[in-house]
Amino acid sequence: MRFAELSSPQVAALRQGPRVPVLLLPIGAVEPHGPHAPLGTDQLISQSMCERAAARLATDEHVRVLILPPLGYGAARCAAATNGAVGIGQETLHSLIVDVCTALGEQGLPRVVLVDSHAAPEQLATLRRAVHTVALRSGQHIGHLDLACHPAARRLPAQLRAGQCHGGRCETSLVLAERPELVDTAQLRDVAACDGSPFEATGAEGESTFDTLTAMLVEVIRELV
Ligand SMILES: [Zn+2]
Repeated sequence: MRFAELSSPQVAALRQGPRVPVLLLPIGAVEPHGPHAPLGTDQLISQSMCERAAARLATDEHVRVLILPPLGYGAARCAAATNGAVGIGQETLHSLIVDVCTALGEQGLPRVVLVDSHAAPEQLATLRRAVHTVALRSGQHIGHLDLACHPAARRLPAQLRAGQCHGGRCETSLVLAERPELVDTAQLRDVAACDGSPFEATGAEGESTFDTLTAMLVEVIRELV
């Protein structure tokens, strides 16, 4: 399921197999998510979406899904002087994505899907621009699970779509579903967030949101194939 765990001959075989290879690129950010959730919450969510989509399509006869090593850093406006915020510039993120997608396209693996759950405005704009740049340079069409634009995203909490409210109820429930030990529950009671208190977050709610996210990602994968 993980691209970097394949050997070079296995990648060659991938291109010749009957199933169309689709590579998922999980993208996140390193930034504060309240006093209770990990800095890498966004990457954790993106990575888990990729794993769930790959598992769902594990025996699909048309598609072979592989997960690329993640881009754990994101573009963040308010990165400076906040405990634990480690942002990179939009140009850096743009170059990274374009270079990775181009390198894969040049070796016959053009189908890449950007899977981001940071979704801050500068991150979204950069990802959309990277999709455009890759298409202009090589005609390679890469996919992007765009939480702000995807039609099914209406089923998601608005705060998740807009990249607002990091560490709120929705994101906290996703972390609780995937890595509950990373949520500092002793801190939860006093946290206020714009999408309701993360104190009300549950793993079950997270599982349900993951279901929606995974269905959306599977749809983007199928569209690309
Ligand atoms: Zn977040």
